[in-house]
Amino acid sequence: MGNYSKNLKKAFGSQIPIRERFFNIIFSAAVLIGITGVIACMSLGSSRQAIMVSAAMTLAFPLLAYIGIRAKHQTKIIYIALVIVNFFIFPALYLSGGAIHCGIPSYFVIGLALTLFLTTGVPGIVLASIESLWYAFIFFASWHWPSICIDVPAFSRENGVKNFMFQAITSNTLMVCIAIGILAKIIFHLYQREAKIVGETIVEVERQSIIDPLTAVYNRRHMYSYLTTQVEKAKETGGDLSVVLFDIDHFKMLNDTYGHLVGDTALKALASIIKRACKDDEMVARYGGEEFLIILPGSNHKMAIGRAEEIRRCLEQSQLAPELPADKPVTISGGVCTFHGIENEELLVAKADERLYKAKQAGRNQIVGEEVDLI
Ligand code: GH3
Ligand code: MG
Ligand code: MG
Repeated sequence: MGNYSKNLKKAFGSQIPIRERFFNIIFSAAVLIGITGVIACMSLGSSRQAIMVSAAMTLAFPLLAYIGIRAKHQTKIIYIALVIVNFFIFPALYLSGGAIHCGIPSYFVIGLALTLFLTTGVPGIVLASIESLWYAFIFFASWHWPSICIDVPAFSRENGVKNFMFQAITSNTLMVCIAIGILAKIIFHLYQREAKIVGETIVEVERQSIIDPLTAVYNRRHMYSYLTTQVEKAKETGGDLSVVLFDIDHFKMLNDTYGHLVGDTALKALASIIKRACKDDEMVARYGGEEFLIILPGSNHKMAIGRAEEIRRCLEQSQLAPELPADKPVTISGGVCTFHGIENEELLVAKADERLYKAKQAGRNQIVGEEVDLI
């Protein structure tokens, strides 16, 4: 896995627990306060009508927001839901729950926070500002024109603060807290699902950027980045490192005779034969059209020649495609180059290519390694 995806995964990985903690705190607090409120309501008695109205509003709130999040025209519907909740539902709860006699309702703050959370950029800020003005007006109106407060049977100014408090607690704030809790859970669930999809997409995009689509081995770009790392490692540790460049013999003729589709099948089969012959820290890459390069960390020249010969012989005994004649196997030639402490990655591949050319000149279906004068 490359650094790019590791960093992104780290970013996503660290973001989820922070958000999860945040939502869980809201959820737990809301449920706790909600349960306390319901118990208080049942033990001290509150207007049934007020509770029913609040419960309906409470359910309507997360439902609206949920529809908004899931809907096709999400942005539009989120805005509509926020307008309904902040301009009508919350003010109605406020006016039916004792209004200014019950202090500042927490759900006004929650409503504004939700607006900023669910919207982006200038429109969200504009909407939150208008909502703030609207709430200020509602405060003012409920104080200046008390008759606009919705009268519910248990609401009575003569009964004093105690009655107002229970009315407000049970029928408004606490119910809304539960609604916010449910909403928080829904939003978090959707966020987690999105984060998973984004994470999977990143991994897939990265996979596609390093893998050759036809043969499913690494591409040339990724091969060079791995080879650079291995050359640096060999320089530091003095360890062995070799590369082998293979090229299919007379592949053009195979294509011309049997067609490109058969050629493709043969390329895929050869790639998987080489892949199977490689160990975990060794790499197979498609270097060009019908050329494959293998990187062998920890292999000296003799070992690398042995490995290349093994693959060449294995191919002689294989039939790469059912359309190809079993008695006339496809063959490969190979050039081997071993690191001697001075070469860079380009030079290693260039020398392997030189030796591959010699193998072709010498009659193909053979492996050529270094000669004394080449070092
Ligand atoms: P030599 O033994 O000297 O290597 O001869 P050759 O015919 O294999 O060499 P050459 O480089 O002339 O031909 C390589 C051919 O590989 C040419 C091209 O059509 C074919 N080729 C390259 N990429 C693909 C591919 O993805 N699919 C198929 N089917 N053929 C490919
Ligand atoms: Mg060839
Ligand atoms: Mg070639």
